[in-house]
Amino acid sequence: MKIKDGIEMLEISMKLLGRERNVYPTIIWDDNNVILVDAAIPDCLPEIKDAMKKVGVPFEGLDSIIVTHQDIDHVGGINPILKELPQVKIFAHEDDKPYIEGEKKWIRLNTNFMNRINNLPEEERDNILNLFENSNVKINDTLEDGQELECCGGIIVIHTPGHTPGHICLYHKQSRTLIVGDAMNVVDGWLTGPNKDAMNEKDAQTAYDSFKKFENYEIKNIITYHGGLFNDNPNQKIKELL
Ligand SMILES: [Zn+2]
Repeated sequence: MKIKDGIEMLEISMKLLGRERNVYPTIIWDDNNVILVDAAIPDCLPEIKDAMKKVGVPFEGLDSIIVTHQDIDHVGGINPILKELPQVKIFAHEDDKPYIEGEKKWIRLNTNFMNRINNLPEEERDNILNLFENSNVKINDTLEDGQELECCGGIIVIHTPGHTPGHICLYHKQSRTLIVGDAMNVVDGWLTGPNKDAMNEKDAQTAYDSFKKFENYEIKNIITYHGGLFNDNPNQKIKELL
């Protein structure tokens, strides 16, 4: 879905943990750069390529991937992309980098999660564990809170810890679009905070506290990774969430 010239929300179907659902990576581009925000999982690559082609931004032109955080449904698709386009640079926040690079164990691989996937059919469970095992990737450069990337009309990095320690959101100035990854969600048309199942109470509080940073921005569109676009008076809705 076109948001504005130079920014498009992709709608990609993903089968994971025994469920099929849509996810919404974003591409942002100008004459010199093509950036993919969040890379889904390996199975999604053909659909991502198709979607980019339809928009008129060839996959071969991709030069950067920014991941909002370390979760497997965001970083799992990177290695297959690098296999085809080894020159692509990968960016993430410093606090999620050690997990993505494999220096620390993925944050989601806790007892709760293991119990959950142990209930899945064996093949499904093995697929998930393989995905975790094969998704570590080198981060070329880290991004920090308040940093502005001087491409595509300016993209501001906003550190929003909670869902994971190094979760970031991106504000695309030209289109006044806030890309929130999993920091927010849209459920039945309502803007909500992050999915609380994956967090303890302290992390949930941290997540909501970090929304205060959004008050500094005039927001026309919010792109959530799991719920898609929200453009019904975002600033007001964020205020209400706080
Ligand atoms: Zn996540």
